[in-house]
Amino acid sequence: MLYDALIIGAGPAGSSAARLLAQAGWRVALVEKAEFPRRKVCGEFISATTMPVLKDCGVAVPFIAAAGPPVTRVGIYAGTTTLAAPREQPWGRALGREHLDVMLRDAALAAGAEFFAPVEVTAVTRDGDGFIGTLDDGREVAARSVIAACGSWNAKGVFAVPQEKPSPSDLFAFKAHFSGGALPAGLMPLLAFPGGYGGLVHTDAGRLSLSCCIRRDALAAARTRHGGKAAEAVLAHILQTTKGARAALGDAALQGNFLSTGPIHPGIRAREAGGIYFTGNIAGEAHPVIAEGISMAIQSSGLLARLLIAHRGEDYAREWKKRFAPRIHAASVFAHLAMHAPTRFASVAVIRAMPGLLGLGARLSGKASISA
Ligand SMILES: Cc1cc2nc3c(=O)[nH]c(=O)nc-3n(C[C@H](O)[C@H](O)[C@H](O)COP(=O)(O)OP(=O)(O)OC[C@H]3O[C@@H](n4cnc5c(N)ncnc54)[C@H](O)[C@@H]3O)c2cc1C
Repeated sequence: MLYDALIIGAGPAGSSAARLLAQAGWRVALVEKAEFPRRKVCGEFISATTMPVLKDCGVAVPFIAAAGPPVTRVGIYAGTTTLAAPREQPWGRALGREHLDVMLRDAALAAGAEFFAPVEVTAVTRDGDGFIGTLDDGREVAARSVIAACGSWNAKGVFAVPQEKPSPSDLFAFKAHFSGGALPAGLMPLLAFPGGYGGLVHTDAGRLSLSCCIRRDALAAARTRHGGKAAEAVLAHILQTTKGARAALGDAALQGNFLSTGPIHPGIRAREAGGIYFTGNIAGEAHPVIAEGISMAIQSSGLLARLLIAHRGEDYAREWKKRFAPRIHAASVFAHLAMHAPTRFASVAVIRAMPGLLGLGARLSGKASISA
């Protein structure tokens, strides 16, 4: 069987591309190496700007039904400062990746995509006008086109993100769910703490999601100061340095275990190479400080599917850059400020003087207000 598209990875990028192409009549092979459902290091927030693509994928209604309550205010917790944007508007909602990724995968299968899992694509080779993907169980998948949606954190082989030498500034990421706690309703604060940043949000089933990134050197210092496992030391560091996080998580109970990954690789990479299209994190990754990665993954697949269906694949790299590069650059500036001068970041006069700035920052990072 010759597929029209071989899609590598069934995260948000891969499954949404699979759904959109399959419902346009493409024969799609979607290959995923992990066993679903699976939790993932992620803050789980999805910006309201992504609702149109979720609608096109047929999951907008189930997403809203399953997700946590609307996020209506963004804010900053840094040192003893706790700021919340005064104006309320619908920024988006959060849904655990063990639910979101299954929902999107099932939408792709319902549209006719064929699912190969759990199995890894280990090689992609040219075959005449098309490609052959080799799976680690020995099977081969022939396709007219290939879409790499394999994420960036553990991509390997042909898709591996070049590893740089270990550096004190490498970022490691952690994630946990909590029950209870005292995060104000509707608020999603950015946590800015020495050597790192993170976020807190109400997610599905009454849970609180904490996710964060911390520099290698700050992690080592936190482990020396607090002892215990890496995740325990990071949590202790956040609670010790950030009053708002202490108030929100003081009485909360950890649900399940902490997850971790890293180093992560924020930046812009190739969107097309050798006839293979790249979407989601593998194409470009924003510092998670702006909680936009899932949205960018889904939106970039929406863009790619639309262009491929219109036989305009050659426009993808350029269009991608126009739509997503500004968010990646904005995130990099925010991340730098949050990690290196957390208290100044939160308390600079300009933020106090301009109550709209937090909202402006969120808009710059891609969170336009669209009702969700
Ligand atoms: C601390 C932290 C917090 C974050 N918080 C948020 C947030 O609140 N909101 C937000 O929008 N984003 C957030 N993000 C970013 C978000 O998690 C990612 O941007 C998003 O997961 C990217 O989706 P993707 O589909 O490109 O890749 P992934 O979700 O990584 O999916 C890739 C899939 O490909 C599979 N795969 C890889 N290689 C192969 C192969 N060779 N063969 C078969 N399958 C393969 C993997 O198993 C995986 O399932 C956060 C990130 C971090 C680190």
